[in-house]
Amino acid sequence: MEERIRELIEKLNKYSYEYYVLDNPTVSDGEYDKLYDELKSLEKTTGIVYPDSPTKRVGGEPLSGFNKHTHIKRLYSLDKAVSEGELDDFEGRILKLSGEKPEYTVEYKFDGLTICITYEGGLFKCASTRGNGSVGEDVTSQVLTIKSFPLAIDYKGTVEVQGEAVMRLSELVKYNKTATEKLKNARNAVAGAIRNLDPKETEKRRLDIYFYNVNYLSDGKLNSQEECVDFLKKNGFKVFPFLKKCKSLTEVKSVLTFIEKERKVLDVLTDGAVIKINDFNLREKLGATDKFPRWAIAFKFEAEEVTTTLKDVIWQVGRTGKLTPLGILEPVELAGATVKKATLNNYGDILKKKVKINSRVLVRRSNEVIPEILGVTETYENSEDIFEPTVCPCCGETLQKIGANVFCVNKFCRERVVNLITNFASNDGFHIDGFSENTCALLYDKGLVKRFSDLFKLEKKDLENVESFKDKKAENLINSIEKSKKINFKNFIYSLGIEGVGKKTAGDLSKVFLTYEDLKNADYESLKKIDMIGEVVGKNIYEYFANEENISEIERLFSLGVEIIKEE
Ligand code: NAD
Repeated sequence: MEERIRELIEKLNKYSYEYYVLDNPTVSDGEYDKLYDELKSLEKTTGIVYPDSPTKRVGGEPLSGFNKHTHIKRLYSLDKAVSEGELDDFEGRILKLSGEKPEYTVEYKFDGLTICITYEGGLFKCASTRGNGSVGEDVTSQVLTIKSFPLAIDYKGTVEVQGEAVMRLSELVKYNKTATEKLKNARNAVAGAIRNLDPKETEKRRLDIYFYNVNYLSDGKLNSQEECVDFLKKNGFKVFPFLKKCKSLTEVKSVLTFIEKERKVLDVLTDGAVIKINDFNLREKLGATDKFPRWAIAFKFEAEEVTTTLKDVIWQVGRTGKLTPLGILEPVELAGATVKKATLNNYGDILKKKVKINSRVLVRRSNEVIPEILGVTETYENSEDIFEPTVCPCCGETLQKIGANVFCVNKFCRERVVNLITNFASNDGFHIDGFSENTCALLYDKGLVKRFSDLFKLEKKDLENVESFKDKKAENLINSIEKSKKINFKNFIYSLGIEGVGKKTAGDLSKVFLTYEDLKNADYESLKKIDMIGEVVGKNIYEYFANEENISEIERLFSLGVEIIKEE
């Protein structure tokens, strides 16, 4: 056991150094927390706590390039809970130590960098990081690039306020659009920006700070978290407009359910909620351990990022012939599911993110079905470069480079056709129940469905010879196809699979052009002028309808009974 303890300490200290000092973590927070919890429990069972154990420290040591700043009052980290049971334990400890049932406040837990700002005589004096809790880095010049906090305040004594510097997610997206070195996530982006010796670099990231604590006040007294937040607001600090007061832990738990949903639509990265005792007298009674106050706890939501090994990259041919790289991962648990694949946008994305086969990659669960590879955390001796394909992996056709992507221009490429017809029949298109990609591939291979209109020529007897199509299944599919013939205009446009015309654009087009004839006859000039369409997609639409073959196929659909119906 002692050996494992030492091993965990070495590992965790290496990870902490990379996270706090280099702002370049090589494992996800979830992986770090798992090892940390293992160490904590081993230390508890054995009673062995080494002096260099991370369980004894708050954060990281200050970077040597910065002047050191000693905080007037120590800054703490937060103990954490990941389950309702751990929250019950937290309250149990409070009751045992104080005998009082507390009132709580619940706030979002921002995932950025703690900043502590000192004011004297009503004027800004300096800004620092939390560092090891007692001594942080003086980051005054960097923090001064942030425009949203006051340089003069009404309060005239000495005060230290604490907040979290963040990079808004929308700013991160904007920054990454033009950056040569893309930022992996908002937390590293903000930590890297502030702990950077050149304030000009900090300024480019357009950071913000949300304040949540008054760490020290020379004159006067605050009595509760509510008063603390009022003090901050009155003195011109930006406070996130969400603070819920809860009379019981049951209320806290229902606020957490709300926060877990809402945080997904915020423009700020959060990794949980912070539950604090409202009353400062009770806080004083409870005090703190070496590392955490006993009166607050961070409730952390399931991690949405994880690192794993990239085993391979395969190139998929989409409905328009565009090839998209798909990362094949060493299977890993992420937010309750096993993840085996992750997307990479195109070859440029692979180069920008420096992704290699057999490298360790950071994967994030997004709203999309397939998670995304954010970047590389480590490469090894056996890591291999990825090359852009020159021939189609499905049909062998020489690929064409158009813009940032490569395309298979063979209109009969099996993978391309199967994807095109699957898209045609999907829920946002003809909505043919029971027609999956596998079914499509099966019918394609049997020579039954080679283009859209073939679907409407299918008869039950055709399907009877196809394996896995028992009586009922064949009948159901024929019925679904028949039912799909009446289609609204938006779905009809989507079903054609025009490059760049997804669900949203199809919806926009169906509002601008009321009939198929209108859309078919639209000239390029009027298409590109439509808001949200633009030149590239406008050109794709124009070229699609200028192609005789496409028009004949659509005419065939109409002659087989397809009818565009007006929406209510
Ligand atoms: P923490 O980030 O888990 O929580 C404490 C911090 O929360 C506070 O210091 C404060 O800055 C912040 N906070 C945000 N909103 C707040 C609010 N409303 N009220 C109060 N505080 C608020 O703790 P930590 O000590 O900063 O970091 C430890 C965590 O860092 C670990 O649990 C781990 O997830 C991560 N870590 C990761 C690695 C890695 O390699 N990936 C390495 C070391 C640490």
